[in-house]
Amino acid sequence: MLGSCGAWPEPGRACSGYVLEHAGFRIVIDLGYGTLARLLQHLGSTSADGVDAVVITHKHPDHMLDLHGLFRARWFSGRTDTPIAVYAAEGVRERLIGLEEDDDGAIDQVFAWHRLPGKRYQLGPFRLDSWVLPHFVPNAGVRFTADDLTVAYTGDTGPDPALAELGRDADLFIVEATDRHQHETAPAGRPRLHLTARDAGEAASAAGARRLMLSHFWPDNDRQLSREAASHVFDGQILLADEGLTVALD
Ligand SMILES: [Zn+2]
Repeated sequence: MLGSCGAWPEPGRACSGYVLEHAGFRIVIDLGYGTLARLLQHLGSTSADGVDAVVITHKHPDHMLDLHGLFRARWFSGRTDTPIAVYAAEGVRERLIGLEEDDDGAIDQVFAWHRLPGKRYQLGPFRLDSWVLPHFVPNAGVRFTADDLTVAYTGDTGPDPALAELGRDADLFIVEATDRHQHETAPAGRPRLHLTARDAGEAASAAGARRLMLSHFWPDNDRQLSREAASHVFDGQILLADEGLTVALD
């Protein structure tokens, strides 16, 4: 776990980011504000050596802005011979290019782009399937399967029947639980394009997931309240995303 916050990071935390490792293959999933330094620490490499693929669920900065930092780590250390495969939703590449206008073509020398949601991809030992999920911008739910183990992740989403398919029988289902209603600043009457922790629990139940990880908490949320809300509707194990947390699956 690189980061657990939605929107912007709390002091000492970071926005959405995960590292998924299996059989010597390492995928980075989302790179929101504050995740890059934690990723480099995990890799033990200032040049970000050891990243085999990157998946970006949508173009909001709390899910992708540190992809630009990853670009810099690769570009300025001369690591352009083998581009890193990036599987990203519409608009992510264009946003990066907008941050790098003075280096024409540099982004595409560092990253090789594939579109999400899209066809089934094979990333090393992982099969990657993706779903369209409702959000303010194009957003992909992603599901990784290797050796009969499955990890699924919503990115940001409103309630949607596709969540049950995305997380079907997953060993770990990472679901956003923004729970913005914990704060008076939450806007009223907007379309539901985020989840509550209860929604997340219902999605995990409908999916028959083994473990639910709640993540993407609004800054200063009471995360134990989120766990409690999900526990009323989901009987399996509930984890709270936390920077530095490692989950071993078997
Ligand atoms: Zn977000």
